[in-house]
Amino acid sequence: MIPLGPQEECGVFGIFGQDGESGVDAAAHTVLGLHALQHRGQEAAGVVTYDGEHFHSHRALGHVGDSFSSQDVIAKLPGTLAIGHVRYSTTGDTVLRNVQPLFADFEFGGMAVAHNGNLTNAYLTRKQLVRRGCIFQSTSDSENIIHLIATSLYTTVVDRLIDALRQIEGAYSLVAMTQQKLIGVRDPFGVRPLVLGKLGDAHILTSETCALDIIGADFVRDIEPGEIVVIDDKGVRSIKPFAQVASRFCVFEYIYFARPDSVIEGKNVYAIRKAIGAQLARESHVAADMVVPVPDSGVPAAIGYAEESGVPFELGIIRNHYVGRTFIEPGDSIRHLGVRLKHNANAWRLKGKRVVLVDDSIVRGTTSMKIVDMVRRAGAAEVHMRISSPPTTHSCFYGIDTPEREKLLAAHAEVEEIAKRIGVDSLAYISDDGLYQAVSGAARDPKSPRYCDACFTGEYPIRLADREDSTEPRLLSLMQERG
Ligand code: AMP
Repeated sequence: MIPLGPQEECGVFGIFGQDGESGVDAAAHTVLGLHALQHRGQEAAGVVTYDGEHFHSHRALGHVGDSFSSQDVIAKLPGTLAIGHVRYSTTGDTVLRNVQPLFADFEFGGMAVAHNGNLTNAYLTRKQLVRRGCIFQSTSDSENIIHLIATSLYTTVVDRLIDALRQIEGAYSLVAMTQQKLIGVRDPFGVRPLVLGKLGDAHILTSETCALDIIGADFVRDIEPGEIVVIDDKGVRSIKPFAQVASRFCVFEYIYFARPDSVIEGKNVYAIRKAIGAQLARESHVAADMVVPVPDSGVPAAIGYAEESGVPFELGIIRNHYVGRTFIEPGDSIRHLGVRLKHNANAWRLKGKRVVLVDDSIVRGTTSMKIVDMVRRAGAAEVHMRISSPPTTHSCFYGIDTPEREKLLAAHAEVEEIAKRIGVDSLAYISDDGLYQAVSGAARDPKSPRYCDACFTGEYPIRLADREDSTEPRLLSLMQERG
């Protein structure tokens, strides 16, 4: 059986430092970078380094802080060149052999690759590669890239990589390293983020600017959609080998996924979330005594809502920070338990009050149902829910983990019906145009939307080749299993 790549949410980090005494400890910096990216994936982390002679790697399931906290681990990862990865994948594929960075020995030497995103033709490509004799070690999409590089007839690493990338479709921001180079790539649509930073002589490539801040590095620029950046002793070289297409950055990164202190494409994520909250208040104001965020994801939008509406902001729900993101724990039973572990109503503040609850999204509805119930039990007089994204009606196939469509509450129910199910007095989502106004200052252009918003509109900018291929029944059933 040829397994299909799991859906992945990930963060990537790479550093190219100078050799010699002033050289950076690449592993230590990478581990710090991964700490800052932990919100992008909490199931596993890995680091590969090169010390001028050998590659070293450490990959483990669990949080960065648990697997990389000891000095012994860092000491076993010498070198001034490193890449690292944090990942979350859907259940069933949480095995160590899938933990990135993936490493392979080629004709030209060793190479490690770490990838954020999802390839949409991974299964079809893998099928062809297996027919050509490639033996896969993992179920990760990224291994396709490794095999395509290995079987390419081009000579240089960069030409082989370009050749490989021309055969893949989907969303990807990746960092790769060889003995001499650190390489970064953003897919032609630029769905997932990737930035370039600098720390002294060292160059850094990473998913978000918060991973530059943690090591005191300066932000240089975003890697452009379709751009390959090659960093070596000669400096930074940019290549744009793909036909140019209109970029479609993931709008959900702004709404939920990226860290609020990050800056993406020149925009501070926190400021955008506040602007979305303010827009939400303009669109769906309701008389209330307080605006309460569902922490932490609803906080910036709730501040924006409160400022715009003049209704006081209150911490009516307190979050226990020692429990991970509920959504990220696979399995329904844990998720149900997780919601109660994670939030508690601040009953003293809520009693008898008309409350506007603000959250970023309703996916299955589990979180909202529990939270609303909790707020009502705490004695709130009215509960109004405001959501800082449009209804999530479609699954993401580009690197944000969402359940299959059947499990998305808004895929089958209108707003009024959802309001009834989650038990609120009123429910409103931000409009598509309102969201675009807040993020980009202009309404959504239906002919050429500025962002990927497939989870709200069902318009998928990148072909879903694996899903469209109906020639093989087993493929389809596998896809349905995995959503
Ligand atoms: P649900 O309980 O399934 O409706 O999930 C909604 C909650 O999960 C919201 O509070 C969001 O903050 C959070 N959430 C939404 N999308 C994701 C995602 N892709 N990964 C992790 N958490 C998410």
